[in-house]
Amino acid sequence: MGTAVVVGGGPNGLAAAITLAVNGVEVTVLEAADTVGGGVRSSEGIVPGLIHDDCAAIHPMAVGSAFLTGLDLEHHGLRWRWPDIDCAHPLDGGDAGLLYRSVDDTAAGLGSDGARWRMLFGGPSARFDTLADDIMGPLLRIPKHPLALARFGAPTLLPAAVFARAFRTPQARALFGGVAAHTFRPLHYPMTSAIGLGIITAGHRHGWAVAEGGSQSITDALAAALADAGGKVQTGVRVASAADLPSADITMFDLTPTAVADILGDRLPRRIARGYRRFRYGPGAFKVDFAVEGPVPWTNPNVGGAGTVHLGGDIDEITATERDIHAGRMPQRPFVLVGQQYVADPGRSAGDVNPVYAYAHVPHGYTGDATDAIIAQFERFAPGFRERIVGTAVRSTTEMSVYNANYVGGDICTGAKDVRQLVFGPYPTLSPYSVGIPGTYICSAATPPGPGAHGMCGANAATQALKYLRTR
Ligand SMILES: Cc1cc2nc3c(=O)[nH]c(=O)nc-3n(C[C@H](O)[C@H](O)[C@H](O)COP(=O)(O)OP(=O)(O)OC[C@H]3O[C@@H](n4cnc5c(N)ncnc54)[C@H](O)[C@@H]3O)c2cc1C
Repeated sequence: MGTAVVVGGGPNGLAAAITLAVNGVEVTVLEAADTVGGGVRSSEGIVPGLIHDDCAAIHPMAVGSAFLTGLDLEHHGLRWRWPDIDCAHPLDGGDAGLLYRSVDDTAAGLGSDGARWRMLFGGPSARFDTLADDIMGPLLRIPKHPLALARFGAPTLLPAAVFARAFRTPQARALFGGVAAHTFRPLHYPMTSAIGLGIITAGHRHGWAVAEGGSQSITDALAAALADAGGKVQTGVRVASAADLPSADITMFDLTPTAVADILGDRLPRRIARGYRRFRYGPGAFKVDFAVEGPVPWTNPNVGGAGTVHLGGDIDEITATERDIHAGRMPQRPFVLVGQQYVADPGRSAGDVNPVYAYAHVPHGYTGDATDAIIAQFERFAPGFRERIVGTAVRSTTEMSVYNANYVGGDICTGAKDVRQLVFGPYPTLSPYSVGIPGTYICSAATPPGPGAHGMCGANAATQALKYLRTR
């Protein structure tokens, strides 16, 4: 049917390559790193046998992704595992908001906010698979389920700090605010509810799953599916300019818009080049993996059963710290996301030593060391944590962007999720995957539906490429 080159072998590049290959296109993936996987890789860095996720760890959006579920990745060894508690948000004084896969179980733990939580998330999560038809692609198109989308969409326009006022208890407010903080935006900005609402709703439908053996298993399964479909991969190949691109009917970029502008230069239509050059990046992540003797000594023992823990205090504190990092100021007590994947997947531990994953939200390109600030946040909610640390591996914002050029300044979302970029993608258009050159597409997490290991950006872009091949 034709030939294709996919530049970048992250989950979206692999998804694009598989979608093309199963439709008879001869595909080659060119990947700069020594292995494919981009932000979905795991390693055994600190203690032999201890498995750490290098980047993506928790998968509420991937486990129900229409693209991934359509591939029978179980056949290639992918197994999902779920913790008893999806996410915990401890507060000073020992209370915690607890998010369960079940809306009812979550509501039962939220006291006077239980009924409100059930009202807000019960309906949308029951309809999530229908909603996903509309929210897992470009937002600006005729919706397949306009009523369901309108009901879900209205609250997404609100700032998360305003939406959180729907709740009265500090637990429910912080629980929502902590998930909303995944957007890396000041929570008093418009549309900062969108990502939080999407993740909570998806989680109540599919759970905050982890991949057995590490997120690497997702990549391994995708790579095997690509090989089965006849796709080829070349690693250690960094594409720096158009001269590095083999000729092909289709070229797909699993890269940032800025990188696409650098590579294609004046081949890009001028208005698109201008849009890509103005693409904005968000704050960074400073990551520390810990090898920890025994469990983390959380003050609230329920927190030990959670796959994800948000350390950020109450909603006002989260709002303030996200505002600080956006303004380029490093807060003393940054928002920290903790992963305890081993509670769902004990095979990642080595004897009594457990892998604990953490990253702090820090300013874009932050050059300091956030390790002590991260440990201090653990100590705040789990006194004695420091004594249990057996080893650490640190990845600063600079190291993050060296590990993967898509994480500019440590921005793990592949671009700021402000209103314009959230709605349109890389630049204002109704065709966010097209770069304005026939047969050439961008398919990274900079495009809709955005970050995550779900592969939907790649699958959506490749579907457009297939239409082009059939009609040219
Ligand atoms: C610390 C961290 C935590 C995260 N946590 C989660 C999580 O828990 N759940 C979740 O769903 N998501 C999470 N994410 C986000 C998720 O990893 C990304 O959204 C996802 O990987 C984006 O996929 P992608 O295919 O668009 O790009 P990437 O995964 O970034 O892949 C891009 C690929 O392109 C390659 N590349 C770049 N430039 C070139 C070039 N010039 N030539 C050739 N190859 C090139 C890179 O090496 C890379 O392999 C996290 C990310 C990070 C960093």
